[in-house]
Amino acid sequence: MKKILIFISFVVSIYIIGLVSINSHSVQDRILNIGIKNILFSAKPFLDKEDTLKVIICGSRSPLPSPGRAESCVLVEAGDDIYIFDMGNGSVNNLTQYQLPWPNVKAVLITHMHSDHIADLPDAHLQSWIQGRTAPLKVYGPEGINLVTKGFELAYSPDYQYRNEHHGDDMLPMSIAGFNAIQIIDDQLIPNDTPGLEILPFVVDHQPVNSSFGFKVSYKGRTVVISGDTIHDGSVQKYSKDVDLLVHSAISIDIVERMRKLAPIPQMDKILLDIQDYHTSIKEAGEIARDANVKHLLIYHSIPTPRNNVMERVFFRPLGGIFDEYTLSDDGTRIIMPIGSNEIIIDQIN
Ligand SMILES: [Zn+2]
Ligand SMILES: [Zn+2]
Repeated sequence: MKKILIFISFVVSIYIIGLVSINSHSVQDRILNIGIKNILFSAKPFLDKEDTLKVIICGSRSPLPSPGRAESCVLVEAGDDIYIFDMGNGSVNNLTQYQLPWPNVKAVLITHMHSDHIADLPDAHLQSWIQGRTAPLKVYGPEGINLVTKGFELAYSPDYQYRNEHHGDDMLPMSIAGFNAIQIIDDQLIPNDTPGLEILPFVVDHQPVNSSFGFKVSYKGRTVVISGDTIHDGSVQKYSKDVDLLVHSAISIDIVERMRKLAPIPQMDKILLDIQDYHTSIKEAGEIARDANVKHLLIYHSIPTPRNNVMERVFFRPLGGIFDEYTLSDDGTRIIMPIGSNEIIIDQIN
């Protein structure tokens, strides 16, 4: 009994000392300085010494809201060079937290021009400008990409001016403000200077979006396909034959139908019905992975994004007996594919 009382008084004393200390300015300053150091000098998830093909999900959700997740964004690192596929809302905040080295980003590639795939292009422009970009930000996209980047340039022209005047032309030169938009052509390799890298765009069906692409990335024998948004029209399956990783968007018709029944307003019911006809169902994504002999299926842009374990189990229920090698991505899910091996390492960077 005496020992218990001594232990309790010890714990209470520590608690009181902690409470008093946290109100001390010098203790607060020391903790804050350690925190800032940890943020600035923590190990970065990019550019390690090993030669790998790496994929990092910088945005895992569709336009349907999901706490803590950004909209569509897939980063691919091949050796020392980085390519980013889509820039949905919140993705640049993620990339900044991951301490993305923008000088290593060779291009941004846009699958299609729905808002959840382009919304953060202006933030990408700003962050890369601050980190010493030496030319307008290179953006590959479908027909009409020039219209999108010109629109952003017009909307952000006062911002470019303010920041240039405030920080100076040496820091943020006006000569490189803006975008260099380049139209993607179906089945024609994206030009790049990364040794051993091929980026092949292919048309997918996301009507009424009249121009929408998926991408196959090959680097020294390792391969990844990114589906973009599409119905199952056979294209993704064709380009995914024997790939290491298929990053596929998917909709759960089951869960969306349940949501429709509970929709509080008719507009929500209408949207939840309409979105079913231009996405690949989770069952179809599994069948594509199985029939294309894909090694691993990574689901992103999930509709809706499962919010807990039960919802995740229901979401993936249709994959039972079809395809087992799958992962639901979160923001920060990283897939490492070392060159010269068949290994696929999956971890989480945040
Ligand atoms: Zn989308
Ligand atoms: Zn879309």
